[in-house]
Amino acid sequence: MRFPALIFLCVLLIPLEGIASAWNVVMHGNRRHVPIEDVARFYKLGTPVKGEKEFRIESPGRSIRGKLGTREVFINNVKYILCFPIVKKGGSILISAMDVTKILEPVLRPGKIKNAGPVRTVVLDAGHGGHDSGATGRRGMEKEAALDVVLRAKRLLEAQGYTVRLTRSRDVFVPLEQRAAYANRFPDAIFVSVHFNKSSKGTASGIETFALAPRGVPSMDEQNFSYSDLKQHPGHARDPENIALATALHSSMLRKMRLYDRGIKRARFAVIRNIRIPGVLLEGGFMNHPLDSQLIASSSFRDSFAKAILEGVNRYSSAISGRSATSSPAPSAVATATDATSVPDIRREFSPIRMSTTLNEAVQRASETFKKEIETNGN
Ligand SMILES: [Zn+2]
Repeated sequence: MRFPALIFLCVLLIPLEGIASAWNVVMHGNRRHVPIEDVARFYKLGTPVKGEKEFRIESPGRSIRGKLGTREVFINNVKYILCFPIVKKGGSILISAMDVTKILEPVLRPGKIKNAGPVRTVVLDAGHGGHDSGATGRRGMEKEAALDVVLRAKRLLEAQGYTVRLTRSRDVFVPLEQRAAYANRFPDAIFVSVHFNKSSKGTASGIETFALAPRGVPSMDEQNFSYSDLKQHPGHARDPENIALATALHSSMLRKMRLYDRGIKRARFAVIRNIRIPGVLLEGGFMNHPLDSQLIASSSFRDSFAKAILEGVNRYSSAISGRSATSSPAPSAVATATDATSVPDIRREFSPIRMSTTLNEAVQRASETFKKEIETNGN
């Protein structure tokens, strides 16, 4: 479906608040884009290195790299699926203004997200339940694994002083609308939905995290717009927090769970679209993949998932408040609200994952080692 009003709508959606003069906006495919040089300059990163098929921008502690013609970008070595593809036009490599606003900005400067309050309450949502088993594999059912991980995470979060609310604490069916309505009763909370995946062939592996697709952005795996992409949902009020929370949780999952990185993606699942608090949906591996399912069935892996949730919540909380582990002034306090070009030091908040080879290769090797450890321990 085509929408003549789309250009107008996108302009409305992407004000690039008060910083428009710093950007050379280029129209491409009826959509506003900016050159990666502008991104590098604005975020005080190094000079972009442009290749035939990819680009990279690096500065100490931070990096962005992306593949031309695709929606894949790595920010500090964490994979994101962009709203729109990276394009080459003339000699310029362009990224959509929507992606700058909805991904780069909240991820690179989480301390500048407006209205992001301190996290006191975590609503944990164990996917499925009751007659809805979710994904099934030879080693169990998604509904059981999700609830077990949620209960483990609850204990860890409560031990650190968080209040934890559960959409379900036993094997019962709770409709999606009811889960969202329950979460909305806690305005100072964040929402974390725990799921596991299933693929049709049983060959897909790894973890992925879903944040609500912003208004005017196609859902995953859809290249074209549909009418529903233009609908406003309650969750859109939290677009910046949603992606910051996804970043914190997904990178913690990569570190703790050591599974293949399928990236941070966009969707309009009912639970994340109908909540008014920041929220994400986590997929902790595939129930019908040989290695993933073995890990998911193990106690140690479920502990790792629970620890990743705790670490992710802590990292999100410190990132949005601009807190730093040292006694030096908080980055967000140093960067004044009126100075749009000041860039807080985000290294402590969303520090890159350091690995000698590409992340997925290293994770794949680590997964094999992890699998052997589990086999040895007899879990
Ligand atoms: Zn599920």
